[in-house]
Amino acid sequence: MCTKKGASLGELKQYYAITLDPLHVGAGSSRLGRVDLPIIREPGTNLPKVPGTSLSGPARAYTALANNRYVWKDGTVEYWCAGRGGTGGEKHCGRTNPACPVCIPYGFSKSSGRSMQGLAQFFDAHILFFPVASMIGPVWVTSPSALQMLELKENPGDPGDGYCPFGEKIEQRKDSRLNFGWLMLPRSEGENKETIKTMREKLKERKIPATITENSVLVSDRLFSLIVNNNLEVRTSVSIDPATGAAEEKALFTFEALPRGTVLVFDIYYRNGSSYRINNQPITVDCSWVKKHIEEGLSVFATLGIGGMNTRGMGRLKVLNLEKEHEKGCGENEHRA
Ligand SMILES: [Zn+2]
Repeated sequence: MCTKKGASLGELKQYYAITLDPLHVGAGSSRLGRVDLPIIREPGTNLPKVPGTSLSGPARAYTALANNRYVWKDGTVEYWCAGRGGTGGEKHCGRTNPACPVCIPYGFSKSSGRSMQGLAQFFDAHILFFPVASMIGPVWVTSPSALQMLELKENPGDPGDGYCPFGEKIEQRKDSRLNFGWLMLPRSEGENKETIKTMREKLKERKIPATITENSVLVSDRLFSLIVNNNLEVRTSVSIDPATGAAEEKALFTFEALPRGTVLVFDIYYRNGSSYRINNQPITVDCSWVKKHIEEGLSVFATLGIGGMNTRGMGRLKVLNLEKEHEKGCGENEHRA
């Protein structure tokens, strides 16, 4: 049962995910520099992020698919629990008994006044490790702020204008510089070797592939933003005229994407239903039930993907720490240190 962290409220779970394709979560049509379709960035840091709504939208659709609630018929009424549920959300079933595995975890809103915020709350995904080509092969870059997302107690320190080895394989190398081709960073050993080792051990428990953590380096937040923004994929594509099936004139456009192999971290808060009422009826589901149905949706990210340009072979995202058996209580797989 949901025993940890306030039994009556629910549980916060942190997820780690790796992009299997380039991932484009667009900022709309705002043109940025030479790119027609930029990705969304965090205003303060200028770092790309994936908003929680860009995770919950596709997850909802996939949970609906997994539970046959995409379009379903109840007597003569046709419900559509995926998506916005038609005008005013009237197509959402909003069923509480038995609870709809889509409407209750993700929420519903009917113009007739019956509405409910979902029992799961999605937070934005941030970059934890970012892959960059270097003269010694691919390395994954992280920064003090990126690691802060993990809520570890340790502080790895700030490597200033250089880089600090974070993974074992980088630590064992004796290179005095790291050559990114366009940027050369001097090695700074720092006084935080022991702290970094402790952090590394904690990261190993979080199912992030060893190749990534072993080949990772720590840079300052300032350099992290610079390196990430200079290594995003920029692709060129062409709009097709649906009438002729040929390329439209002047339809060449460029778009940005997070490269394959980027590690993201995001939180989801799962609430127990017991503290909520609909038509004066309590919702009798607990947070492990909510988590089970959300994870059904998250597991499909690796095959059907999220974000834009999905049909152009983009957007597959593998969530690394889904639970195999959901009957376990939701406090038991807590990864918070
Ligand atoms: Zn429903």
